Amino acid sequence: MRCPSCNSLDTQVKDSRPTEDSAVIRRRRVCMACNFRFTTFERVQLRELTVIKRNSRRVPFDRDKLVRSLQISLRKRPVDPERVEKMVSAIVRELESGGESEVSSEVIGETVMEHLRQLDDVAYVRFASVYRNFREAKDFEAVLGELSSEEESPPPTAPRPLVIRK
Ligand SMILES: [Zn+2]
Repeated sequence: MRCPSCNSLDTQVKDSRPTEDSAVIRRRRVCMACNFRFTTFERVQLRELTVIKRNSRRVPFDRDKLVRSLQISLRKRPVDPERVEKMVSAIVRELESGGESEVSSEVIGETVMEHLRQLDDVAYVRFASVYRNFREAKDFEAVLGELSSEEESPPPTAPRPLVIRK
């Protein structure tokens, strides 16, 4: 593994431990040339995914890009980063096990929204508003309506923060 700081190929693994119920191996590495320390993650990849974009262009699926778009939606939200990691892994696993090596950006967007709404309502609305490219206020209201109809029975995977009202 090349050092991201000085590009030396002489790097060593210092520590290796599984996270996310052993679905991911996290390795701490150190560069022998400049002593820079960095972390790598090893994950199972079931298949190479290609994304078919709206303009019909095909690009390789990029997990980091997905993470970045989620981080924008989750900005300043009280969500444990480890839960976000788990959600990303679940999304990717779902896409990879779909049986197709090509997947449309629509399918990815819908899959992300499905998971995100169970994680955090605000992030879900942010992501959905960008993804669905809301042009009209009523689109936005429709999504908010979808959320409020679920208020009575929050999904068990997303315990709501306990609010104590006086
Ligand atoms: Zn280095």
